Amino acid sequence: MRRLISLTILLCVCAAAPAAGDVVHLRNGESVEGSVSREGDKVIVTRPDGSRLTVAEGEIDRIEETETAAGAAPDTPELEPADDAADAKLELVLEKLRADSDRELNRAFAEFKAAGERAVPGLVAALKTAGADERLRAARALAEIASSSANETLRSAMADDDPRVRAEAARALGAIGSSENQPALIAAMLDDKNDDVRVAAATSLCRINGAFSIPFLVSMLSDPVLRSTVEQGLLKADNPCTASFLVPPLNSADPDTRKSAAVLLTASARASHVSMLMNLVKDKEHRRLAQAVLARLRSRKEYAVPLSITLLGDEETARTAGLFLRRAAAKDLGEDPAQWRAWWNSTIPCRIHVVPFGLVSRELVRKVAAAIQGEFKVPVAIAKPELPIPAGCRFENGQHNADAFLDVLDEYSRRNPDAMRVIGVTEADLGLPGSGYYFSPARPGGPVVVSSWRLRASESITTFQRTCIQAIHALAYSLHLPPCAVDECPYSDVFVAEDLDAKKPCGCKDCAGRIAWLIGVQRALAAWDPNAVDMFESTTVWSRGGPVLMQAAIVCEMWNEKDKAAGYWRRFVEGETDPLLAVLMKKRLELVGL
Ligand SMILES: [Zn+2]
Repeated sequence: MRRLISLTILLCVCAAAPAAGDVVHLRNGESVEGSVSREGDKVIVTRPDGSRLTVAEGEIDRIEETETAAGAAPDTPELEPADDAADAKLELVLEKLRADSDRELNRAFAEFKAAGERAVPGLVAALKTAGADERLRAARALAEIASSSANETLRSAMADDDPRVRAEAARALGAIGSSENQPALIAAMLDDKNDDVRVAAATSLCRINGAFSIPFLVSMLSDPVLRSTVEQGLLKADNPCTASFLVPPLNSADPDTRKSAAVLLTASARASHVSMLMNLVKDKEHRRLAQAVLARLRSRKEYAVPLSITLLGDEETARTAGLFLRRAAAKDLGEDPAQWRAWWNSTIPCRIHVVPFGLVSRELVRKVAAAIQGEFKVPVAIAKPELPIPAGCRFENGQHNADAFLDVLDEYSRRNPDAMRVIGVTEADLGLPGSGYYFSPARPGGPVVVSSWRLRASESITTFQRTCIQAIHALAYSLHLPPCAVDECPYSDVFVAEDLDAKKPCGCKDCAGRIAWLIGVQRALAAWDPNAVDMFESTTVWSRGGPVLMQAAIVCEMWNEKDKAAGYWRRFVEGETDPLLAVLMKKRLELVGL
């Protein structure tokens, strides 16, 4: 019912927008409408809501002068194509997939890739119905496009009779990279009869790099068929949980397995593995390796301090650790690790990054950044220059696939280690495959992207206010703040754009306290502070169910707290009905030794 209301209101909002004069078409395929004026080599577009956009002349493809511009851009999704139209489309796709020469085929793949999201339905149909060769090629084309709208069909293709199709589907699932594809890929890696399929599945799991898969991948180090694939893949993935699972392969009877495990431990250990490494130092077999890994960690800037603080507590290492810390801090805070930890946590560069996407009002971006800084009390950086709208992510109804934006932001956070959270800002309409529109899609514990498209009002100031409140609402969600019951609090539920007009730009007293705590947890995690584990665990008491349980499990694994992690994984999976996931969970606990 609420959804119905929201659509009606949205249609009214759209109809109320006054007709604009011109449409400016940009070289990157975007367009913007409004009245156009020039300032030097810049073109200023004043949009119907009064907001202004500045565009460099060089970015413009053409300017279309029209009186009916507003009417020419339909907001309503296109109607479902009639059946015969879908059939005709499938025929066309199959014709391209049946290309005789490599050259023709490569041209077809390039065409599919350029069409992006629009090519997916036809290829999905081909993967379900056509002959083996066409199915294989359809899977390859879907790997090129890498859209999450093909996830379900590709997962079904993991049961295809032809192993070539299964391997290609596994590759495509890795190229898409959604974490929900992990169970199907793990099952294939463990049990498929064909080695090519197993290798493809392992490669894709390393690409997805999800915490759920890591113990399965590590256990494959003992398999000669998969060993080198997994070793290389895990090295590249550099997952903070990998080292926690390496003790069993380090003790394997097989020298090749031990060697791979040693390579991975050296490369992937973090400051959080210090207690595990100290145990290994006591073990005659592994003493030299563990010492070498500790020395390597201490030589890395981001780990040297937190590691030395932990080593202050150990009789053997306290003296050299103290010396190092006094030199690094240029002051003496004594023997108490807590004092040093407080100092170190306060020096960690921890910022929220605001990333503009495509053609977006700079004023809006600045306002969002200011709202975030004011509410979260964390320095905010605005990424420059803005990122392009991801290519080929446009659905047939004109919406953009939000997953593509979130993937770009995930990659952006990996490149910016000082980013505690990343939030994209766009004016593009966002949706997910088969599920309507979103104001601000987010990955819990990960990036957020807020779109002003569905929040537009007749006055730009209202649009901006709504977008700012929606931005802090979504960021708080990604930090695991539970929803609030106070209507005027920005952290209570938002169903339609107008709900935002009743909200204040700052949280109620309860929410403000929780946000300060959640930011503190993020700081502790960034500082490799062992208290982060307890701090994160205590948020599970009042925070949202599934996502926070999964994050808690991951944090516990990062710190080698396997029993605690197993408890969270169990609780996380209890809410799941997927029988495959239940089987894999049991197996995962066995691998960890529980
Ligand atoms: Zn509140």
